[in-house]
Amino acid sequence: MKMFGTNGIRGVVNGYMTAELALKVGKSIAKVLGPGTIAVAKDTRTSADMVSCAVEAGLLSMGADVADLGMVPTPALQYYVKTHPDVVAGVMITASHNPPEFNGIKCVSSDGTECSHEEEAAIEDAYESEIACPGWDGVGSVRRVSDAGEAYVDAVVRNVDVRAVREAGLKVCLDCSNGAASQTTPLLMKRLGVRAVAINASQDGRFPGHYSEPTESNLEDLKRLVVETGSDLGIAHDGDADRCVFVTGSGRFVPGDLSLAILGRSAVKRNGGGEVVTTVATSCVVEEAVKSVGGNVAYTAVGSPVVARRMIEGGSIFGGEENGGLIFADHQFCRDGAMSAAKMLEAVASGGSLDEQVDSLPRFYTIKAAVECPDDLKGAVIKEIARRCEGGRLNQKDGLRIDYDDGWVLLRPSGTEPKFRVYSESRDEKVAKERSERFLAMASDAKESVEGDR
Ligand code: MG
Repeated sequence: MKMFGTNGIRGVVNGYMTAELALKVGKSIAKVLGPGTIAVAKDTRTSADMVSCAVEAGLLSMGADVADLGMVPTPALQYYVKTHPDVVAGVMITASHNPPEFNGIKCVSSDGTECSHEEEAAIEDAYESEIACPGWDGVGSVRRVSDAGEAYVDAVVRNVDVRAVREAGLKVCLDCSNGAASQTTPLLMKRLGVRAVAINASQDGRFPGHYSEPTESNLEDLKRLVVETGSDLGIAHDGDADRCVFVTGSGRFVPGDLSLAILGRSAVKRNGGGEVVTTVATSCVVEEAVKSVGGNVAYTAVGSPVVARRMIEGGSIFGGEENGGLIFADHQFCRDGAMSAAKMLEAVASGGSLDEQVDSLPRFYTIKAAVECPDDLKGAVIKEIARRCEGGRLNQKDGLRIDYDDGWVLLRPSGTEPKFRVYSESRDEKVAKERSERFLAMASDAKESVEGDR
């Protein structure tokens, strides 16, 4: 049975995500990733205690010891796992940006990266099997760790040019989305000597400020506050603070593609070259920005674990996705919300205001659409479209991407819905639109012809 989605096991609490399920998942994790100590952390959801206690009981019953880090961001858990050799794995209790009724279980490998699909499949197999527990004298115990958030912030600070940030005298507005960043990111600002005004910084899993997805429409208050307080920029996180998005001093929301481009350019400049990794769904603005300072870009399939693993293999310096999930090789190979905030402050301190940096990027137009398609036809439809495509260079790393001199089109099967997502990007808005419409029509037509052949 497939339980893991793109970001762990998720479900509505006491619907799919019951205490019984969490308990057995805990046992399965201990069987696959144990023996040894397993670190557990949670975000601010109202069900955090229920799910984490059940997972921990499952781990303990299998003889694993638990390091309970309490409420910290996902990257703080990952940093703890990476830096403690006796810790063999991590479990984060979070549903990231989902509505408050959801919760989830996400697994981390011994090196602090997100578990691979193979490890997740092994946990699913264990869940389906009978799991034998040790005798009474073989069960594990819990140790409470109270400083994992602070240790994570200290590590972030060590990777930033603190002097440059301090000397710039920056002022920021923070939106912690009532989530796991509520303590760590304000602390980070203090350590960096940045004046910060924070909103939604109480830990409240009902998410009274706004849902925990940092989209432009959820950040209206932040946009207004940045302007009203005359701040240099706004910083916002999702619920478990592995992601970070930005607002400029003039109150403009910065799409994730653009912050990826700005931080990629800044990383390559500081390093004097280097490779940046992103996915086939990311705007060309990243490649242009990185190339303009002598770097190069490698593309992977969608998903932050894929980006992280490619960065490790290729010795890349920076990577990420267009949703605000950014990975810094000199810190750790996972999406890192506080590190993203700190690096953006460093980029602004040394490279000029965020408004100027956004305006300095080349302009691309991206259109995102979708077309219905039953899951079992997706493979055949992709093949059929590839056959019909004329012009352009085909890339089948993830779905079908067709590159043109002035942009690209990506047809990508949705992992969660019976749909294809169709992205079209070009320097010319009209061309982007025209291609989007053409490929939507081609996908519908290919689906009909594949259905007819069945
Ligand atoms: Mg998240």
